[in-house]
Amino acid sequence: MIDTHAHLTYFGEKTQEIIDTMCDIGLENIVNIGTTVADSKAGIELAKTNKNVYAVVGIYPEYADSITDEDLKEIEMLAKNKKVVAIGEIGLDYHTEGYNKEKQIELFIKQLEIADRLALPFCIHCRGAAEDVYKILSEHKNLIKHSGIMHCYSEGKDWVKKFLDLGLYISFSGNITFKKNDRSFLKDIPLDRILVETDSPYLSPEPVRGRTNEPKNVRYVIQKIADEVGLLFEELEKITTDNAKRIYYKIGKDNG
Ligand SMILES: [Zn+2]
Repeated sequence: MIDTHAHLTYFGEKTQEIIDTMCDIGLENIVNIGTTVADSKAGIELAKTNKNVYAVVGIYPEYADSITDEDLKEIEMLAKNKKVVAIGEIGLDYHTEGYNKEKQIELFIKQLEIADRLALPFCIHCRGAAEDVYKILSEHKNLIKHSGIMHCYSEGKDWVKKFLDLGLYISFSGNITFKKNDRSFLKDIPLDRILVETDSPYLSPEPVRGRTNEPKNVRYVIQKIADEVGLLFEELEKITTDNAKRIYYKIGKDNG
């Protein structure tokens, strides 16, 4: 079992306790996702000192306004670390008022270029922006050869086929367990393209919704998807673990 998307750096004092107990609950790896240069650096530090933790480095779309070329150079340098398995989270977020669409698009493409130069996959944050995310990826097929992940997928059934056709993986977090959300399209996704994550400390799945989320809760996401596609927990756990190691191909290869 792998939590493919967590923000361990947001847990403060509790971070190390979460990492130290991950094996007890059957969690093989946690992939920490960066949102700024400083946060990406902190993620690498965690990965360096904890064998089973890996890092993804990148700048979150909402910070696009203040990003300099220096910041991007630093992300590229950090991404060369052997424990860095992808670039992220990158993408577009049109949810918060006053967002700068042009800057976000520019930052998104520049980070896709970094991923391509380093032969790494990427992890996409897409909120209220499926159309533009799809358009940019379609127009830059040369930059997506190493594939990528639609993180915390919430764009529904109509978009899923389009992102699958681009060769991307679809990752689900606690949101897929919420009672009101449509799960019928899970059956249409090839099993070898499904990933699971927590996005902790956010988005606690049912039945622990409302509490602070932790990587161990990824099991509820696995169970919900397994129920929907008619597999046993153990079967879907193995499939999603294999998928995580395929897309994050550096996991286990760092001799760390
Ligand atoms: Zn996230």
